[in-house]
Amino acid sequence: MEAYRRDESHLQGPLPLAIVKPRGPQALRELVRRAQTDGFALVPRGAGTGKAGGCVPTERSVVVDLNEWPGEILISRPDMTLKAPSSALLKDVKAAASAHGLFYPPDPNSWDQCAFGGSLATNAGGPGACKYGMTRHWVLAVEALMADGEIHTFGIPTVKNNAGPALAQLLVGSEGIFGIILGATVRLIPAPAECLTLLLPARDWHALLELPALLVSAGLLASAFEFWDPEVLELLRRFGPEEARRMPGQALALIEFDDPGCGSDAFLERVLDLLGPVSEELQSATDARQREALWAIRRQTSVILKERFPHKVSEDIVVPRSQVRAFFEGVETLGLPLVTYGHLGDGNLHVNFLHADAYPPADMEAHLLALFRLCLRLGGTLSGEHGIGLAKREAFLALSDPYQIEALRALKRALDPCAIFNPGKVI
Ligand SMILES: Cc1cc2nc3c(=O)[nH]c(=O)nc-3n(C[C@H](O)[C@H](O)[C@H](O)COP(=O)(O)OP(=O)(O)OC[C@H]3O[C@@H](n4cnc5c(N)ncnc54)[C@H](O)[C@@H]3O)c2cc1C
Repeated sequence: MEAYRRDESHLQGPLPLAIVKPRGPQALRELVRRAQTDGFALVPRGAGTGKAGGCVPTERSVVVDLNEWPGEILISRPDMTLKAPSSALLKDVKAAASAHGLFYPPDPNSWDQCAFGGSLATNAGGPGACKYGMTRHWVLAVEALMADGEIHTFGIPTVKNNAGPALAQLLVGSEGIFGIILGATVRLIPAPAECLTLLLPARDWHALLELPALLVSAGLLASAFEFWDPEVLELLRRFGPEEARRMPGQALALIEFDDPGCGSDAFLERVLDLLGPVSEELQSATDARQREALWAIRRQTSVILKERFPHKVSEDIVVPRSQVRAFFEGVETLGLPLVTYGHLGDGNLHVNFLHADAYPPADMEAHLLALFRLCLRLGGTLSGEHGIGLAKREAFLALSDPYQIEALRALKRALDPCAIFNPGKVI
């Protein structure tokens, strides 16, 4: 049971009362009945890769591990939809779409480890979100266990459905507080046929900050725009794998396009005209192996930093693309000791306080509140993708509009009157 006390955040909960791996509706019915009569909580869990402590047990919790929930991945080509159980791995969902020449875009950097159900419950997003949006933009219907002990389907497997407010969307990103997601139908699109991967070393890293908005203004929507600031890049060169040691520039961006024709010289020239002033050494990945090596470094960045700085505190704030420069100016004015990397293309930045243990806890808390207030002032918020869970609950409650918190609590009371589903998380 020890492994079930944690996820990929810094949090650790008490030992759960039990771990349950339901395999059918009867088990779920019984679980809900007993939770309501015996007064214990049901904490849903997918692969446990969450970074907000959402599946970490609290007092008197039973962890509901969805990995053995039955079902297979089904694709309807005429409807361009895919149906899968929560237990499927996101990588298998993406591969199934791809085997039919179709594309399911959500791509959290944990896509090769996380469960489909976990990605729905956290509304996961990744590098591709700057073009394709997050998980919620792809979900058509959700099957979930609700507080009456029954499985209900919210939504229908078609892109057009306007019969009342979208309850399926309420469950996406709900982090298990309204019910347990058992599966979903998502929409697919034709798989992009081409891909251009660029590595852009910048001499002056501040110049990078304007580029996502510049590209968009010129009518170019990158399918990924990732970056490493000078300090993170230097750490990767020193402590990263072999490929990372050769990464050029003062700061570095990894940019991808998947538009039709993006492999042509004309497209490259158009991009070069825009990016040229920032870097004369633009490189394009020559083959799939080189592209994969670059993405592997991006995916490992968090792990490499964690190995060197085990007490680091990391946040995944977001600001509108147009406010990225203002964000860094704000960080400088506030004197916040942080380094950044992440999804520059949509303003979702992974902010790391590497030496968090060098500060008294009250000072760290003040730093975090100052950071979150800055994001809110610029029109952003305190989590772009990881969610609230346990880790950000207090800050979320302190900084959100009280009316909206009360609205969420009223929904929680209506849908889960005995408060059995993941209590103490989010709100
Ligand atoms: C290396 C790494 C990189 C990551 N990169 C990204 C990224 O780019 N973008 C991103 O969004 N996230 C990222 N994450 C965070 C995490 O992987 C994602 O949020 C992922 O989608 C969580 O899936 P999971 O199956 O591991 O969920 P878990 O960690 O098991 O659970 C996460 C939350 O969802 C709830 N939950 C899980 N399954 C269900 C269910 N069936 N029904 C109801 N509630 C449920 C849990 O109670 C918990 O609140 C990353 C994590 C790691 C370790």
